[in-house]
Amino acid sequence: MSAPSASVFVRCSCGHLHWGRYGAAGLLLVDPARGVLLQRRAWWVHHGRTWALPGGAIEAGETARGAAAREAFEETSVPAEAFRAVSASVVDHGNWSYTTVLALADGAEARVANTESAEVRWVDPDDVPGYPLHRDFAAAWPDLRGRVGQELVLVVDGANVVGSRPDGWWRDRHGAAERLRDQLAKLADAGVPDPDDSAVTWWPRIILVVEGKAKHVTGTAGVDVVAADTDGDSKIVEVVAQQQAKVLVATADRELKGRVGALGASVIGPGTLRTQLDAL
Ligand SMILES: [Zn+2]
Repeated sequence: MSAPSASVFVRCSCGHLHWGRYGAAGLLLVDPARGVLLQRRAWWVHHGRTWALPGGAIEAGETARGAAAREAFEETSVPAEAFRAVSASVVDHGNWSYTTVLALADGAEARVANTESAEVRWVDPDDVPGYPLHRDFAAAWPDLRGRVGQELVLVVDGANVVGSRPDGWWRDRHGAAERLRDQLAKLADAGVPDPDDSAVTWWPRIILVVEGKAKHVTGTAGVDVVAADTDGDSKIVEVVAQQQAKVLVATADRELKGRVGALGASVIGPGTLRTQLDAL
């Protein structure tokens, strides 16, 4: 038996009607040179003639990220290969939710691709409030504006995280660091929760800092590996200082926490990171 159609209105506990049995998702595409991609909705769709993001109902079994990418392609012809998803935020109404996927575009070409949109346009983020916006997008915009152009970099203190669990890692430090790297690659794809905002998930760039017998571990898709010649902590501080992005450091080292905290980074403990890795 096939799943019930996703394309229905839901009477929500907030009092409004919303589109999508399994919730809905939209894509906030950011191009550093051109701004954000807005779509003017066709006159005949719900909240017609307003400006909003390409998006629509999440299908049964589909992720919000997948739905946002599919809808953006259907409506604006921007293919998934043309952008990199950076973060997602969820507005949860209980029996309905809307996920905005924020992505960095790499010179994507957008055009009106189906009858649901009347026009697509790259807009300077500062000009967005001047457009006649869809009610829900207007409400979400101030928060989204704060994340336009932002990325999360997760810097992992390899020796500290490997050493946080007595699983025999000391017999093969190189192999243990490789296993951590491979788990981190899955995490880069699955995403990590924002340490300060439970409604936000990031697909981070991950930098694993290794040292000693693990220093010849190589990088893989989604994970850069940086080797410390002598002092792992100083290398981590150096890596954190180089980032333009929001930085999250995974370590339990008290002194290191202070040093990266002074640079504005947030810290999570190895136990928290391990819990996220174990859940993949
Ligand atoms: Zn609602």
